[in-house]
Amino acid sequence: MERHTTIISPEQITRQREYCTQVHDMNATLATAPLAYVDTYGCQQNEADSERIRGYLSEMGYEFTQDEHQAAVIVINTCAVREHAELRVLGNVGALTHTKRENPNQIICLCGCMMQEPHMAEKIKKSFRHVDLVFGPHALWRFPEFLWRIQTRRGRIFETADDPGSIAEGIPVERQGAIKAWVSIMYGCNNFCSYCIVPYVRGRERSRNPQDILAEVEELARAGYREITLLGQNVNSYGKDLGLGMDFADLLRAIDRVEGNFLVRFMTSHPKDAGDKLFDAMRDCAKVAPVIHLPFQAGNDRVLKAMNRGYTREGYLSKIRALRARIPHIVLTSDVIVGFPGETTEEFEDTLAVLREVEFDALFTFIYSPREGTPAAAMADVLTKEEKQANFQRLLDLQNEISLKKQQAYVGRTLRCLVDGEGEDERNNLTARTPGGRLVHFTGDKGLIGSDTDLNITSCSTWALFGEPV
Ligand code: SF4
Repeated sequence: MERHTTIISPEQITRQREYCTQVHDMNATLATAPLAYVDTYGCQQNEADSERIRGYLSEMGYEFTQDEHQAAVIVINTCAVREHAELRVLGNVGALTHTKRENPNQIICLCGCMMQEPHMAEKIKKSFRHVDLVFGPHALWRFPEFLWRIQTRRGRIFETADDPGSIAEGIPVERQGAIKAWVSIMYGCNNFCSYCIVPYVRGRERSRNPQDILAEVEELARAGYREITLLGQNVNSYGKDLGLGMDFADLLRAIDRVEGNFLVRFMTSHPKDAGDKLFDAMRDCAKVAPVIHLPFQAGNDRVLKAMNRGYTREGYLSKIRALRARIPHIVLTSDVIVGFPGETTEEFEDTLAVLREVEFDALFTFIYSPREGTPAAAMADVLTKEEKQANFQRLLDLQNEISLKKQQAYVGRTLRCLVDGEGEDERNNLTARTPGGRLVHFTGDKGLIGSDTDLNITSCSTWALFGEPV
């Protein structure tokens, strides 16, 4: 199979790193290192993109601040998945007129999915004149060039042309933390779920070469990272565009063979593409965590069809059965949308029935949010806002009941957990994760952070477990 993805050449990335050097040399003439402020909205893919933006900024000689007033460069990495997040971004960007007034040389950059929406880029151009640079996810690899052009005062830059997407290797990464790391294995999505903006703003599916992924995982394992999360909009499509005969299950098996003491997680899986081969690999690979996030979105077949999800309720349930037959202790999480256009309360009952049958460990729940340019945005509603809200509440109540029951089943058990950070109060000053990703609060020595510890689970809430070292 011939591959159509545009690969950004090593020479093009080298050129970007030369821009980094040029900006670095300009910054080196300042009395102190200039500061950059990076704010990230949305999903883990955006977090991973921001690590690349920070990598470039670091190479350009910037240090980082949490205070936008102090920053010479502000980068806001935006999310287009929900209207609420977009409104928050616009509010926060509007407030930056004050920081720019205090510091007219401040450079304000907006990037991410929201900037790839034509109407949004237009709005920023006309109404947010204090913003200097706007670029979509496709153009991230050119960030140093854009910043250099702005620093040498060539006006505002808008780089948001429609683009099916590319693959760029060799961008520096400034990771947040030394225990957990993100590794993007693919970009974009071909599924066009009728409510989702992602395929329009992140382009078509394109997989990184397995050798590049394995090299990154090996480097992370050597550096002592304990948890590696593989990212993609639909990881189960991995490899389809490569023509190498390697799919996601094969990739998991190859990663499992990498030497080191680490656990692998992945997200997000699409139920239509997840199947026995993946479940076998999850069962067989010691390094693959016993957890899967498998969004089912709705429990009614008519609604699933209108969502263009590509599976039925029974198809979904049969996959859960196949998975549990192989890994009985698997931790299962999912996403649900309530109030999809046309969904009746009777149809919504089917969603509650799926919850009762599967008993997910945790659920990410959303009330449908129309996204301009998607087919669902033109579909008619049959329920009022209040009716949708009432259904949403029923969903939350049921899931809270299930989550608590699931959490209670851990109490009295001893689990080997990865201590991953500091907690919020003195009594529970540390946090840890079970292999299945359940959060545990406990009291212990900070020196434990980054290590495996046996924890006796003593109590729980709906959201967290509480334990003590054995
Ligand atoms: Fe959006 Fe569907 Fe692709 Fe997920 S699989 S990113 S919901 S289009």
